[in-house]
Amino acid sequence: MPASPQFDAACHILATLRAAGYEAYLAGGCVRDLLLGREPGDYDIATSARPEVVLDMFPRTFAVGAHFGVVLVAHEIEPGQPEPASHKPTEVATFRSDGAYSDGRRPDEVRYTLSAEEDVERRDFTINGLLLDPLRGGGPLEQPLADPEQLQADVIDHVGGLADLHAGIVRAIGRPERRFEEDHLRLLRAVRFAARFGFSIEPATHAAMRHLAARIHAVSRERVRDELTKMLTEGLARHAFELLDETGLLVHVLPEVARMKGVEQPPQFHPEGDVWTHTLLLLAQLEPGCSLTLAWGALLHDIGKPATFRRAERIRFDGHVEIGMAIATEICRRFRFSNDETAQIVALVEHHMRFMDAPRMKASTLKRFFRLDHFDEHLALHKMDCLAASGNLDNWEFVRGRFAAMPEETVRPAPLLTGRDLIAAGYTPGPQFKQILHAVEDAQLEGAIHTADEALALAREYFSSL
Ligand code: ATP
Ligand code: MG
Repeated sequence: MPASPQFDAACHILATLRAAGYEAYLAGGCVRDLLLGREPGDYDIATSARPEVVLDMFPRTFAVGAHFGVVLVAHEIEPGQPEPASHKPTEVATFRSDGAYSDGRRPDEVRYTLSAEEDVERRDFTINGLLLDPLRGGGPLEQPLADPEQLQADVIDHVGGLADLHAGIVRAIGRPERRFEEDHLRLLRAVRFAARFGFSIEPATHAAMRHLAARIHAVSRERVRDELTKMLTEGLARHAFELLDETGLLVHVLPEVARMKGVEQPPQFHPEGDVWTHTLLLLAQLEPGCSLTLAWGALLHDIGKPATFRRAERIRFDGHVEIGMAIATEICRRFRFSNDETAQIVALVEHHMRFMDAPRMKASTLKRFFRLDHFDEHLALHKMDCLAASGNLDNWEFVRGRFAAMPEETVRPAPLLTGRDLIAAGYTPGPQFKQILHAVEDAQLEGAIHTADEALALAREYFSSL
């Protein structure tokens, strides 16, 4: 792995703190990621220096969450040089031990400490509790990230995190019950890390999660949403949702999804099994870095099925799309998704069954279908939906082929006729305008008319037949 500007900047900060006589280490997620051979998203530093000292020591600093003791240190740049866009500031946090937690969300008070050991003990999981000294007491390394084995020699492990990292285990630091009681968000963080790395959850940690799962209701919906979205979009979403189910969290965060379990489907269309199994098979296909809307759309596309299940000549889910849209809208409201995000997630639910009809659609209907915002997401959802059921992609191939072959000007051609043209032709604006313009546009999309004169002639016919 090549050394990054972020890593170099962190080493420079570490060296400066050390030179001034303070203890300082890389800490938390970045150490874990380096040991796993993954590129860390950011490098966090833990130090014995107080925030006010850190603020004075570097030229470009910002205090954040003053009472959490964190200072952002921006990269030093040559005078006159522009700030490189990729440079994120480094978070420098003073060693601290958290006081009591009385609200299940954040500590009542934060005490600074000179002990690195105390600082790691307040962290959540052993794999997140490692410290790294990349300077090995001396100057910066030439090949800092080259060799995970060498890195291990520089790790300071007060919590058994190295062994758990090797064994693939998410384990709470200290007494699991207490740690989840302190901060209920950790319930979801445990699932997220286990899913992301394909790790298992250590039995006592798992038992505490099951016991305390209902506490997740005390966490703000935005924070729950953000955790769930990360699980859905980081890859391994299936594993995450199986763990949510297994730990008893699913029924609290998404009871509507939990209801999919055991809802049978007609085996001729769904040989894979019930609605939950089908949904898990979609989640298994979500790529790391996929869009939030596609991920939530995949999760919720069949959310209307449990409420509409009916045994007739075969199992039927009549109206599941409409009910599903209502439930998806409610879930998006609850999690405070933006209006745009909500609209797209609900649109994915709304249109997911229309692909079946695509080969029989009139040209005008198909073109209007292609006008949906982010049609690529509708296509991607349909593909996952097919692969999670029959595995037959003929229909998806058909729609994808037609969509790819149709340029924007064919899907959305400049109108041959507008309301103004109708007024100029002597018609009085009224409710028929919209209807007639729509019908004229259909004829244009069908290729039945090609000129403004033909469009006006057709409109005249429609007016006279009204
Ligand atoms: P990611 O790769 O998702 O950023 P991360 O481990 O870096 O994972 P952050 O949320 O960035 O997680 O937090 C950085 C570190 O702070 C963690 O590794 C952990 O040591 C500590 N931490 C974060 N949130 C909590 C929490 N709720 N309780 C205890 N420690 C926490
Ligand atoms: Mg992080």
